[in-house]
Amino acid sequence: MSDLRGMFVDTSICTGCKACQVACKQWNEMAPGVPLPMEDEAAVREHRAFTGNSYDNTSHLSATNWRHVKFIEQIGPDPSTSDRSDPRWLMMSDSCKHCVQAGCLEVCPTGALYRTQFGSVDIHQDVCIGCRYCVGACPFGVIAFNNRTGRVNKCILCQDRLEVGMGTACAKACPTSSLTFGAVDDLKAMANDRVKALHARGQSDAYIYGWDLGNTGKITAGPNKGTAVQDVEVVGGLNVFYLLLDKPEVYGLPAHAALPQRNFVPSAGVALISAAVLGVAGLAAFRRDRTGGDQCRLSTSSHPNGNGRSPSPSSSPGSRPARTPPWASSTSPATRTINRSRTDSASSRCPSCS
Ligand code: SF4
Ligand code: SF4
Ligand code: SF4
Repeated sequence: MSDLRGMFVDTSICTGCKACQVACKQWNEMAPGVPLPMEDEAAVREHRAFTGNSYDNTSHLSATNWRHVKFIEQIGPDPSTSDRSDPRWLMMSDSCKHCVQAGCLEVCPTGALYRTQFGSVDIHQDVCIGCRYCVGACPFGVIAFNNRTGRVNKCILCQDRLEVGMGTACAKACPTSSLTFGAVDDLKAMANDRVKALHARGQSDAYIYGWDLGNTGKITAGPNKGTAVQDVEVVGGLNVFYLLLDKPEVYGLPAHAALPQRNFVPSAGVALISAAVLGVAGLAAFRRDRTGGDQCRLSTSSHPNGNGRSPSPSSSPGSRPARTPPWASSTSPATRTINRSRTDSASSRCPSCS
């Protein structure tokens, strides 16, 4: 058996009780926060106030909420109408996925984020410098900056519990076994059996997000009813993975998660090509200026003056007109414009020169 440890999150049996969320806060000694009025914007941002737009007042993961139970309220088959028949609530207990290819870990310049012996991603708090590179590199928006400590925080798969042979606190507290902790290989087998059992009962929308175990299905209710779904493997696999009943986007998960740093080579290539094009264009403009910006496009033989240069009242044919920088001129810009138009009209410029 592999040493990899993770969690299987079966959203089909989550009741939204939030026992897992409370257990996480309790074990990791994060203050529950004091309820504050909505007017306190800082409190709203830190999820310590009543949001008023859902029964879920945590709203999303943060530096002080390492687990968050999402309430996805689908009212009626078409949310744009007043038809409130056939509603359903989807619940999902969310946290760090402990990705096999962890974007946060790959960009961390100090090694504060590291892979544990259990395959999870933990943080050395004393090594984190608060640069926040990891915040932008996580494709799931999980890891968050903690304003109080100046460092980042997220679920650490209860590393301290795992080291003494215990499971995760959140899974231990879950009354429905929606969260199951264990060896990733065992969990994948369990998830596959669960999807097949649900399909056999007519719940054909069940599929796995995190690993491709070969299951396919069709959504049976809600606005996306009839849409085909299938197991999806993201960023090399997720050690904390999910059984879902609707499209990933409905749960706020990317359908095709990609690490931002995977775009580095194409982005660098585009930047180099752009720099080369700009350089050539700049050289061409410089060369054109040096060889005479007023050079006529007509050949010497076909030009009315016979010399390939635009006529200038102030210079002899073939020589460049003397230029006076704007700041050195005593004539106002408006006057210069008038003089130029008079000069041009008085000259015998060919159409290509004007
Ligand atoms: S979900 Fe985000 S924070 Fe967690 S391991 Fe993956 S990239 Fe890192
Ligand atoms: S595994 Fe531990 S740290 Fe992570 S969400 Fe569960 S209780 Fe919190
Ligand atoms: S404890 Fe279990 S049932 Fe309750 S919200 Fe968490 S995952 Fe859902």
